[in-house]
Amino acid sequence: MSVVAFLREGERVVGAKVVNREDGSTFNIKAKQVINATGVWTDETQAMVTDRGQLKVRASKGIHLVVPRDRFQSTVGLILRTEKSVLFVIPWGRHWIIGTTDTDWHLDKAHPAASSKDIDYILEHVNKVLKRPLTREDVEGVYAGLRPLLAGENDSTAKLSREHVVAHPVPGLVVVAGGKWTTYRVMAKDAVDEATRSMDERVPPSCTESIPLLGASGFKAAWNRRNRMAEETGVHVARIEHLLNRYGAMAPEVLALIAGNPELAEPLPGADDYLAAEAVYAATHEGARHVQDVLTRRTRISIEAWDRGVSAAPVVAKLMGEVLGWSDAQREGEIKHYLARVDAERLSQEQPDDESADAARMGVEDIVPLR
Ligand SMILES: Cc1cc2nc3c(=O)[nH]c(=O)nc-3n(C[C@H](O)[C@H](O)[C@H](O)COP(=O)(O)OP(=O)(O)OC[C@H]3O[C@@H](n4cnc5c(N)ncnc54)[C@H](O)[C@@H]3O)c2cc1C
Repeated sequence: MSVVAFLREGERVVGAKVVNREDGSTFNIKAKQVINATGVWTDETQAMVTDRGQLKVRASKGIHLVVPRDRFQSTVGLILRTEKSVLFVIPWGRHWIIGTTDTDWHLDKAHPAASSKDIDYILEHVNKVLKRPLTREDVEGVYAGLRPLLAGENDSTAKLSREHVVAHPVPGLVVVAGGKWTTYRVMAKDAVDEATRSMDERVPPSCTESIPLLGASGFKAAWNRRNRMAEETGVHVARIEHLLNRYGAMAPEVLALIAGNPELAEPLPGADDYLAAEAVYAATHEGARHVQDVLTRRTRISIEAWDRGVSAAPVVAKLMGEVLGWSDAQREGEIKHYLARVDAERLSQEQPDDESADAARMGVEDIVPLR
């Protein structure tokens, strides 16, 4: 759903007009308080309400490379100083994640594209400390994101504030912007407390910081039982550990799918860390609507697999289609869309600069209409 306008009663915001991007329908959602938490889109969504007292958010692009763990030996992660900022080399499962860059971005916000220049920058810096230099052939995956930075006086995005700000520009609307991933619960608490403060009902302060994430309660006990779970389900203990690491104490929900259909214990082609059951679970329990939701968001197959999920896509489409009732044409459309997305990303990563990388990535729309 995209917010396309805010509902007003006089100056007050009383809800939002939204469009369902899957079928194009539009409807209104009424609310006593609206919280606008739209990251790098904050300038656009604020402008739907007021041009007074606005927060200014700048988008800073950062990219990371994923390379196999066996490409160099180290028992620890690394933090390297660069001329602009720092470079992290982080152990992640069977891979290293190496990043990041920090550059201003003024192009398509939904699909920031990594250019050839970004990739070379990271390789050049990490190679200063490696005995055997990494090359493009060692790169399994590349991903790019945009940091929402509160704009200040300083021109360099590397120096802008990483703090967050909560504003209440008009009655009924709270805006939270800036901040960091690691502080998201503080951001949420500050925004929710600000919104509830002006409501008539007495609402206690948010206690989000002490609420365990889904799957956290009971995780330790489940981990201790992993060998027993392997015996009970017939699934190898290494797979059980993978599921526990991904779903915590909710891993038995995925195992229950396998108990109902043992074929779901098969690994996905080209991405054999993941089981077919995980694609099904994404559609039944995690709100996945499209093949790319599973390959790029519920899992990280798009950056972990050498083929970026190309060989998993048809299998994932079949599994999801059975849950979501897709026709043959819908299933084919989903596969075609995902393959086009991979091609566009690969092409963008061969382009010399942001403009050409953006133009290459823009070739593929985000949503596959479900018709
Ligand atoms: C390379 C990189 C490295 C980073 N490293 C770190 C780190 O080490 N530590 C750390 O803490 N943070 C880090 N961050 C920052 C962190 O990832 C971001 O601060 C955080 O993800 C921003 O979250 P957000 O919810 O504010 O914005 P977003 O995740 O961008 O969410 C905004 C949402 O608003 C939605 N939206 C926009 N317009 C509309 C509309 N009209 N209607 C409905 N929805 C809309 C968008 O679809 C989106 O889902 C890093 C970021 C990058 C890019």
